[in-house]
Amino acid sequence: MNTKSDKQVRPLYMEQQDLIKHKAKITKVGVSEINKKRYQWIQLDETIFHPKGGGQPSDEGTINGIRVVYVHKVALDKNRVDQFEILHCFDEAEKLSFKEGDEVELEVDGSKRILFSRMHTAGHVLAETTKAIFPNLEPYHGNHDPKDGYVKFKMLRSMNDGKEEIIHKVQPQLLANLNQDLSVLVIQLPSGMRAIQIGEHSMTCGGTHVHHLREIGQVEITDVSINQKEQIVTIKYRLVD
Ligand SMILES: [Zn+2]
Repeated sequence: MNTKSDKQVRPLYMEQQDLIKHKAKITKVGVSEINKKRYQWIQLDETIFHPKGGGQPSDEGTINGIRVVYVHKVALDKNRVDQFEILHCFDEAEKLSFKEGDEVELEVDGSKRILFSRMHTAGHVLAETTKAIFPNLEPYHGNHDPKDGYVKFKMLRSMNDGKEEIIHKVQPQLLANLNQDLSVLVIQLPSGMRAIQIGEHSMTCGGTHVHHLREIGQVEITDVSINQKEQIVTIKYRLVD
């Protein structure tokens, strides 16, 4: 049962990730400092803007033609994943006349959304590919910014494989896995969370994904760093085209 309050934002981006234009109603207007920067913001009754989180940059786009510079998710109850609000942030200097109750036009930058979705889905494939070759490596964190993409793995036991060996084994298998004729399925869970399934692998994830692996294109491992002391391996990657 989804017990989200009627007053909270409905995250349409979770349900319909191809929706990049939509109308919504303003529920709150404010100004706050977020990560040491002041923004004007609005909350909406529902939104198609994916906030920053889970290693994915926030969507870009406009509301009533005004540039949304950041989309911030605020947890309302740290024990409940479905209790949150989303602040659609504008530059502090922007002259805004938004007020509660106004209906506004949302438009997400579709090319950025696709880029972020390709990058994010590639991170899942890289994590699964690496784990299949090196069962000793457990993925625990990813960053899917196109300019700084990486997946981090915890070493379950110490390992002797070096950087070159990891690249040599993972890179060809990664390309082979990306070439599989596999859809990326989205499964809504009763908890309000969402899972995705690629082939036999499924994982809970709230990010945006491509519909089929073929949309990702070529992916290159650009670097591997091995921290023996912390028992952490970081694999950096980028989209080739
Ligand atoms: Zn994901």
